[in-house]
Order: sequence, then C-alpha cells, then structure tokens
Amino acid sequence: MKKAIAAVYMGHKKPFEIREYPVVEPERGMARLKLLASGVCGTDVHIHDGTLGGDGEQIIGHEFVGVIDAADDARAYGLDVGDAVIATIASPCGKCMLCKSGDDANCVRMGVTNAGDPNMPPYFHGGYAQYNFSPLSNLVKIPDSIDPVAAAVFACAGPTALHAFALAAQANCGVEHARVAVVQGLGPVGMFAAAYLKALGIPHVFAITGRTVESRAALAKDFGVDVCYGLDRTPWETLKADITATSDGYGADVVFEASGNPSAFAQGLDLLRNRGVYLVPGQYSISGGVPVSPEVITFKALRIIGSSQYAMDDIRAYLGFLQKRPAFANKLLSITTRYPVEKVNDAFADIRAGRNIKTLLVP
Ligand SMILES: [Zn+2]
Ligand SMILES: [Zn+2]
Repeated sequence: MKKAIAAVYMGHKKPFEIREYPVVEPERGMARLKLLASGVCGTDVHIHDGTLGGDGEQIIGHEFVGVIDAADDARAYGLDVGDAVIATIASPCGKCMLCKSGDDANCVRMGVTNAGDPNMPPYFHGGYAQYNFSPLSNLVKIPDSIDPVAAAVFACAGPTALHAFALAAQANCGVEHARVAVVQGLGPVGMFAAAYLKALGIPHVFAITGRTVESRAALAKDFGVDVCYGLDRTPWETLKADITATSDGYGADVVFEASGNPSAFAQGLDLLRNRGVYLVPGQYSISGGVPVSPEVITFKALRIIGSSQYAMDDIRAYLGFLQKRPAFANKLLSITTRYPVEKVNDAFADIRAGRNIKTLLVP
C-alpha cells in the first residue's frame, strides 16, 4: 500500500517525529485530501510551548488546504473529487444552547477532527501531513479564481478575525463607521484585521507591535496600515498622543487585540474613546494576568467583544473577501515561507526566531 509522511507532535517542547503511514481509503462521509499547503499557526506554537494543553502524541495542525483525492459521496456536500478545499477541524455538537441559536463557533461541547491517534486508521487526522482525512461536512471549496496556496495564508487567521467582526456586527458596534482604528499585534490575525479595516474604508488604521520587525511593518503598510509603532522604539505616551490627536482628542473608535500579549489588554483599554469598541480575539493562550484598572471600562462605557473560534460561514466570508480582491490574494503568496512536511522542526525554529511572516508546510 502507498505510504505518506506525517509530522507527529510528541509533547511539549519535544521535536516532531517524522513518520510514514499507509494511505487508506476514506470511510463514507469522509474525504481524503492531498496536501497543497498547511499553515503553522500561533496556536500550534502555544501547544508546543505548553501554554495550551494537549500533551499526547498526535498530528497537530488545523489549517489544512488540499485537493479532494478520494470521497464516495462528495456530491451530496456540493463538492467533487479534484476540488481544492479548506478543511476546518471544528466539530460543534449541534445540540447545545449555543449551537441551536446559530452560534456553533462557541459550542460548549466543541470537538475537533485532528485529535485522533496517529497510529490508528485513517492515521492522517491533523494538518502536518501529506494527506488529511476530514468529514466532508467540514470542507469549504476554494473558488477556482483563487490560488489555493494564497488562500492557505490566512485560512485560520482570516476567519478568526472575521468572526470577531461578525460578533461586533451582531452587537451593533458599527465598526465600519470608525475613523480611527488600532490593531495590536501584526501576526497573521492582526495583519488580516488591519487589511480588513482598511478595506472597510476606515481612514486611519494604526498598528502597534511589541518589537519592530521591519518586514512586518512594511507589509502592514502595503496592506494599508497608515502608521506602525513598535513599543521598542516609540514611548507609549508618544503613540497615545498621536492616536488621540488623530481622533480630535477622543481616542480610538476601535481597537483590535491580536498580539496575544496580556499587557496589550490594559493598553487597548487606555487607547479607546468613550463608548469605544474593543475586539479581543488575540488572547488565545494561558499567558498569565496583568493589572487592569476596571474603572476604565465603566468610566468610558466601553464595548468589549471577546471572540474565540470561527464557523464555516467565516471561512466562506474570508474566501469571498479574497475573491473580490485578486491583487490582495496575489500578494499573499509573497509572504509565505514554505517547508516540506519533514522539515517541520526547522520551521518551528525559524518561527521562534521571528524569521517568518506566514509559515506553510507543503508537499
Ligand atoms: Zn490557526
Ligand atoms: Zn454545541
């Protein structure tokens, strides 16, 4: 039987093991996907660091983009063999209060498709592999007009950001009417959020990072960010004064937290105007607490929206965003650093050294 390679996560801080498993036929309702590109997410680095749990042997990775290679009943799902798809690992229960109210991204019994034992068929449960087996119901087709590798760049970050914006829209926050927006952090989620805010037509989009990385700041500017501040170069009072002056003394209308640094939260509160909107999808690891002055939330009557996961609709919205902006989609290819699956340990070393903007595992 044909075999293929997977990079198996062995536990916190341990090197990934490169293994071969047989490529079996998919069961009914499942698709066998052949790898095009699989993103390495900040979440995966947190798992590897040990700040997100998950210590068993498994094939991690949740940003798999591939071609449907085999599936019995793809047509029943509006798909076909040969389609390029994004596979989501989210497996909401469909029965809890949140699922029933149409909020399945926040299911209280959320399952995942990538937690299976890699030593049990069909072996390829997660993203770090040359093949992946996913339920057909978890696949979103990538329109033919979009390069699937470009779609892979923000396959998780895009929907993550868009889900936060969708929750803000549900709460009538009016983000699209903002004049001054600030994005904290320029990893993939922050980068996409900044591009999205600019696409909404917001005249002043600022970005703040902990330390200045020239290539990241240049890319953010290319995506429309007006000013990038690095906290290593610009004192807090200076950047706050700039943002306040740009907003006629009010403070930022919208702040989007995508840094994952706990201390960013207190800073975000500080930058907002009265009734400002704070979107917080970025604190996706258990990284400790910081002192916060909660009276700021009361005095400014802030609107704070947390956002954790995303739903299939957010993936569709992301692909719709790319489809309408071919120039943006093309640019995405240039920000990837690609490694074959078997070089995953090199990829992690480069990520930790801050060398990559978006890391992809490829065939
Ligand atoms: Zn991710
Ligand atoms: Zn549920």
